[in-house]
Amino acid sequence: MPLVKANGYGHGMIECARIFASQGAAAFGVAEAAEGVQLRQAGITQPVLVLVGVVEQTLPDIVNARLTPVVADGSIVAALSRQACESNIELGVHLKMDAGMGRQGTLPADFRDLVQAVLGASHLRLDGVMAHFPSADDRQSGSSAEVLSIFQQTTAMLADLNCGKCCLHLANSGGLFYVAGARLDMVRPGIALYGYYPDGAAGAAQAAPPRLRPAMRYVTRIIQVRRVPAGSGLGYNHLFTTARLSTIAVLPVGYANGYLRNLTHQAQVLINGHRAPVVGRVSMNLTLVDVTDLPEPRVGDEVVLLGRQGQEEITADEIAGWMETISYEVLCLFGQLNARVMVD
Ligand SMILES: *Cc1c(COP(=O)(O)O)cnc(C)c1O
Repeated sequence: MPLVKANGYGHGMIECARIFASQGAAAFGVAEAAEGVQLRQAGITQPVLVLVGVVEQTLPDIVNARLTPVVADGSIVAALSRQACESNIELGVHLKMDAGMGRQGTLPADFRDLVQAVLGASHLRLDGVMAHFPSADDRQSGSSAEVLSIFQQTTAMLADLNCGKCCLHLANSGGLFYVAGARLDMVRPGIALYGYYPDGAAGAAQAAPPRLRPAMRYVTRIIQVRRVPAGSGLGYNHLFTTARLSTIAVLPVGYANGYLRNLTHQAQVLINGHRAPVVGRVSMNLTLVDVTDLPEPRVGDEVVLLGRQGQEEITADEIAGWMETISYEVLCLFGQLNARVMVD
């Protein structure tokens, strides 16, 4: 079950879902009901699990679009069954156990009651049970084995509750790669499908070939090349002052594009296959790069903010290091705040 929430981690939900469907995806995971409705409108026919947005207001959409709600506790069960009854269908649902994540779901001690509530609801069918790992990206952590064991012990009761075939699923990308025995009936990779390891650059460095390849590039062009004397203050608050006669390239990109302000004096970009440093404050729509040491930068030259150019590559993991975050956030920001073109 590929996760295509957050617009496919910024890569375009519908385009990605179509690619994954063509490669045999059995189901899709989204956060919100509205995302599921969009997938249906785009012709996706596989089950679509709504992980977060199962609330009173979205139940009509969930039932009408034949989405699969993930039920976190018993409070929504009666309303869900009523909605399914109105449309005269039997609605398949998955249940979310909190087996150690400590975020959403029902604790193991109360899980039997939740299962029975669903089994007792006239228009609901129990199709699956899931939980989520808090630390599957950390290979050293003992937490994942413990979560897996709790999940398996708690779901063992499904056999004597006579609930038919029920899909058990637990593994995100970290669970899929790093937790022995966690694959169960279905896996839920997200970040791995977009070419990144859940544990970032360290994960990529340790991975055996064939390695994942990042899918996204983020590219712009130089809009002005300026020669500025030594001692010039550049941009807001003159955060950077040139120490020499400098050549500065102006890029039409800023924090409005997800190229966040905390990349100021951190980031590098690729121009003609060379790295060049960002200088001065990143502003809303403009960023400056010191290209004094580069051979003949010109207006119109391609600038790679994320991705490969020539022999060099800037990954979302490297940018995440500069931004003090993780690749996931970089991909969501760049992908959602800019025009996307699907290539190859
Ligand atoms: C987002 C999500 C995943 C995918 O996680 P990755 O680390 O991107 O592989 C899996 N399961 C659930 C419940 C999620 O919300």
